[in-house]
Amino acid sequence: MQRSRTLVVIGIHREELAFGREVVRGLPIGEVDVLEIPDGLSGRRPLPDQSFRYGTLHRALYLQLLPYLGPSHRLLIDLHSGFDDEGPSADLLCGDGGLRTRLHDILDEQGADAPLEQVRIVPLGEAGVVQARTVIPSEVWHSPAFAYLGLEIYLPNSAEGRARGVILARSLIRIAAVCAPEHVG
Ligand SMILES: [Zn+2]
Repeated sequence: MQRSRTLVVIGIHREELAFGREVVRGLPIGEVDVLEIPDGLSGRRPLPDQSFRYGTLHRALYLQLLPYLGPSHRLLIDLHSGFDDEGPSADLLCGDGGLRTRLHDILDEQGADAPLEQVRIVPLGEAGVVQARTVIPSEVWHSPAFAYLGLEIYLPNSAEGRARGVILARSLIRIAAVCAPEHVG
């Protein structure tokens, strides 16, 4: 059987696992591979005196993902969720310039299941942006073997808005899977 080129990881932050499960449950079987983290970290912002520990635990957990990336995988999607009263909205965090361009083109052409202004593509690894994301080690977001895409879906506080967020997340995962590079590096 042909393995998928895309691995979606859910539950890096345990508070967000239920949302991740809901999203992947609705994806066509075989379109992506899914890795569920059963006992993720807390995604709550650390207190200042805990930020070292927060960073260390995150780096260790992200490094543990590496053995799960098989030889067919060219794209790692790291699914998260947060809050946005005006949402659903999304950030696509990506350090691969080629992948950013393809995402941009497809979103321009066909859109996602949300107004385009609700979806932002954020370059990783450039000055000013990476500071907030240093908890992800460069072995993960800047690998020669696969591209990394952090997918943050921001949900409003209503059942209807959350449902739209689930649909938006699925739509963005499918778009990204189409954009997964044939080769990296
Ligand atoms: Zn998260």
